Amino acid sequence: SVEFQTHEHDVVVIGAGGAGLRAAIEASAAGVSVGLVCKSLLGKAHTVMAEGGIAAALANVDNRDNWKVHFADTMRGGQYVNNWRMAELHAREAPDRVRELEKWGAVFDRTPDGKILQRNFGGHKYPRLAHVGDRTGLELIRTLQDHGIHRGISVYMERTVIRLLKDGDRVAGALAYDRERGRWTVFRAKAIVLATGGIGKAYKITSNSWEYTGDGHTLAYDAGAELIDMEFVQFHPTGMVWPPSVRGILVTEGVRGEGGVLRNNTGNRFMFGDIPDNYRPQTAKDEEEGFRYVLGDKEANRPPELLTRDHVARCIVREVREGRGSPHGGVFLELQTFAEWYGKRAKKFDAAEHWKKKLPSMYHQFKELGGLDITKEPMEVGPTTHYMMGGVRVDADTQMSRVPGLFACGECAAGINGANRLGGNSLSDLLVLGKRAGEFAAKYAREQSSAGAVPTDQVDAAAKWALEPFDRDVSENPFKVQQDLQDMMQDLVGIVRKEDEMLRALDGLEKLRARAAKVQVTGNREYNPGWHTAMDLHNLLTVSEAVTRAAILRKESRGAQFRDDYPKKDNAKFGKVNSIIAKGTDGTMQIRLEQIPPMPDELKDAIRAEANGVLPDELK
Ligand code: FAD
Repeated sequence: SVEFQTHEHDVVVIGAGGAGLRAAIEASAAGVSVGLVCKSLLGKAHTVMAEGGIAAALANVDNRDNWKVHFADTMRGGQYVNNWRMAELHAREAPDRVRELEKWGAVFDRTPDGKILQRNFGGHKYPRLAHVGDRTGLELIRTLQDHGIHRGISVYMERTVIRLLKDGDRVAGALAYDRERGRWTVFRAKAIVLATGGIGKAYKITSNSWEYTGDGHTLAYDAGAELIDMEFVQFHPTGMVWPPSVRGILVTEGVRGEGGVLRNNTGNRFMFGDIPDNYRPQTAKDEEEGFRYVLGDKEANRPPELLTRDHVARCIVREVREGRGSPHGGVFLELQTFAEWYGKRAKKFDAAEHWKKKLPSMYHQFKELGGLDITKEPMEVGPTTHYMMGGVRVDADTQMSRVPGLFACGECAAGINGANRLGGNSLSDLLVLGKRAGEFAAKYAREQSSAGAVPTDQVDAAAKWALEPFDRDVSENPFKVQQDLQDMMQDLVGIVRKEDEMLRALDGLEKLRARAAKVQVTGNREYNPGWHTAMDLHNLLTVSEAVTRAAILRKESRGAQFRDDYPKKDNAKFGKVNSIIAKGTDGTMQIRLEQIPPMPDELKDAIRAEANGVLPDELK
């Protein structure tokens, strides 16, 4: 049998982004021993890349805001297939979580009277995003780390978990390898919290970094948990499209929130031409009104560039497909129109200074990577795979999955966002539901008299599987298989989907799985990215299959799922259901639709109040 080190804690948190850190802090505050495991260095999580801000109805900039409006906005954005209880908890608790972050030392941008400043973002009725320039995630992570460090949390860096271990039904631990030497570690625990982030690397063009390979989704699925809403993959409308080396890198929605407008190659501001009916009353009639909104005029409605991400992304795809795109296959995003308009009104307006202060990272990013000065010239942007709405199915209040002792939070868990996430709602989700996961994992751990036994047969089997690629002499290259998978998902299960293409993708996945079983790696176990990629393939293939099966089953267009063959919403068939995926006893992926429980009247009233008194069909 293989050699391994063992570390034992009451609660082990896998993933040290915002969700994992917040969970670890809470569990530790409850007095249990906590281990925090991450794939790379502490602080280098996805969360650190977050730009625009944290959504919370603090009502600092517009006092009409409150949790009910935030709840209604989140449900409308998610097209009503969200887990309403999660959306409720999120909207209610986000303001306290943000204030707590401030208490712990986060330095937010401020209003003139010294409150936390809030900015506009797509789908949010009022300016709601607490932010630090366009580097909010950095400040969030810094604060959580500084705060967490004093709580006695044991941190294990550069360890990648490849399997959850179970004692009977209950979760008992996790097996990880370390990057440096490839040695095995078993983390023994009474409760485990997954906080591993997203799946962006299943696609070719993505804003996500190399780490986001759907690990938590797959670990949970393999351990017997369910996945929910896997068809809903968010394509953010604005990634860089040029030069090729940086294709996909995110251009924050904050650019549009600060007055950036989208144009096609004829100069047309095309978003004005396609405003969905349910957003029409909240959308500006003309440029003038949109700009007034950006400047904080409470009588004005928001510009159409701030419609939800799913819709804006599709409009961009249409412009490009119909020949109205920019030279490198995107559209133009520019700040100049607003600057000109604003310049005429303001006594003194220095556009270059203004944008450098409001959007310092964007300025820098385009200057360094694209040789472009965004204060003077338009950016070229196009959709990029950004965020996973689908993930581990958990209880809304406790964040526990159906596997006893296995919790999940943050991007790898699901429910809150429904068919489409509003910008800013992830950082608040990490704080609100991360805290809950930590709290309830600690509670669960306390209730167990001992940790489950470590099943050495499971450790041996997983380690043997992991090491097989070293012993093979058939040579499939793991990077090539990964690349072919990314190309295929991009082409066949991307922004615009069709049944026949997705059936081809299922076939393709089977072939890729066969190739993955033949990958060979050379060298030894020390810092071997080829070996790591060989192991990642299992995760990427699992989440890709889940996305594809769920997207085939939902024969309608809703939020991030756009079906060319079913371009309309079908409320009768799909307006009240979620897709649920679980591993069958024969090891194959099983999928079914499940009814969403009816919403309590208080929440329905909140939605009605924000929809001119009319309840959407999904809730009738
Ligand atoms: P992450 O922060 O992704 O952390 C995952 C952690 O899990 C890491 O520590 C990683 O090492 C670890 N891990 C993964 N797999 C394993 C494994 N197998 N073993 C051990 N450890 C593992 N959202 C907003 O609300 N507002 C924004 O302004 C915003 N801007 C964004 C900008 C960019 C460029 C991107 C990419 C995303 C943005 N988002 C934003 C989305 C948001 O940042 C993410 O959804 C969120 O940070 C995810 O947090 P998380 O804690 O779930 O996971």
